[in-house]
Amino acid sequence: MKIRYFDHAATTPVSDTVLQAMLPYFQLEYGNASSMYSLGRASKKALEEARRKVANNIGANSKEIYFTSCGSESDNLAIKGTAYANKEKGNHIITSKIEHPAVLNTCKTLEKQGFEVTYLNVDKNGFIDLEQLVNSIKPQTILISIMFANNEIGTIEPIKKIGEIAHKNNIIFHTDSVQAIGNIKINVNEYNIDLLSMSGHKFYAPKGVGALYVREGINFEKIQDGGHQEKDKRAGTENVAEIVGLGKAIEDIYQEYEKYNEKLTNLRDYYIEQIEKSNFDCKLNGDRKNRLPGNANFSFPGVNAQELLLALDEKGICASAGSACSTGNPLPSHVLTAIGLSKELANGTLRVSFGKDNTKEDVDFLIQNLREIIPSIIQKQ
Ligand code: PLP
Repeated sequence: MKIRYFDHAATTPVSDTVLQAMLPYFQLEYGNASSMYSLGRASKKALEEARRKVANNIGANSKEIYFTSCGSESDNLAIKGTAYANKEKGNHIITSKIEHPAVLNTCKTLEKQGFEVTYLNVDKNGFIDLEQLVNSIKPQTILISIMFANNEIGTIEPIKKIGEIAHKNNIIFHTDSVQAIGNIKINVNEYNIDLLSMSGHKFYAPKGVGALYVREGINFEKIQDGGHQEKDKRAGTENVAEIVGLGKAIEDIYQEYEKYNEKLTNLRDYYIEQIEKSNFDCKLNGDRKNRLPGNANFSFPGVNAQELLLALDEKGICASAGSACSTGNPLPSHVLTAIGLSKELANGTLRVSFGKDNTKEDVDFLIQNLREIIPSIIQKQ
């Protein structure tokens, strides 16, 4: 059976060019990047080349890039690292209610350690309230952490303005850009970003590699003890092959940015239009305009999303009920709850996320199946 994959927000396949770039570093160029001999120096060179590619594609300097094992680790390092290093200045952090668990649970841990965290509300489209942000700032606020784009509903936050507010108040600004990198062109200076998290497997690099941008001069501490890798901020022998993959992936995706952006936007808008034209009830979640190019999130009253996903799976269709990370969690998604959805609507929500290899024919197949499956599920209830 042909697999039709519409879950690129959960993960993406490794692209051919990325795989080819990585292969030599598993068996030929396998040196430890800290070793002095030429085999080690070759790995070090590849590592620094990847760092340069990441930096160039977000308007940063190479020395501001730190490699990690994933987006979650980047978020932990960004938030705990700045909180610990700046605790003499204050103990207050501001974030939002719709962040990924990598941010929310990091904040919860910090609360147990004596930090105070404000979780901002969002409106029905998922935008944070800028007025509430300004009103939440205290003399002891040291960090604002707001995601660039939401992983479930795709809403893109007003990052430039948030950064401006942070800097006006002398506060560090971190953004979890795990869903945005590759989908939106980001320049850290234009967007007033001090720290930015990314994860390779969301843009055609493998799982298990991420990066954190930290603006030069920002005070942050390591959170993992060990060797002196990554300028003493992230201990552990560097995962050279995957870091090379991440460097190649970010370069590839931004080289063809306009093409992919247009393609994903067209597929998304076509899907949204076709779903809204169907003869069943539906509600689009997230902002219609300011949303990730490949994201479409609909709630279907009377539908159990788990049942829908299983029926789609039988047709070879991969999609998601919310975020992959909350699968197995019986509670309705915290993001859908925060935008005001009832439990019933939240539990009838389907997230579709398109990728660069999807075609219009794939989308037609998806729409045709939804038009058959959804009324049959509703009828059964
Ligand atoms: N932040 C966001 C917004 C995400 O969507 C994800 C993963 O889905 C993460 C962080 C965590 O990234 P990783 O899976 O690389 O740990």
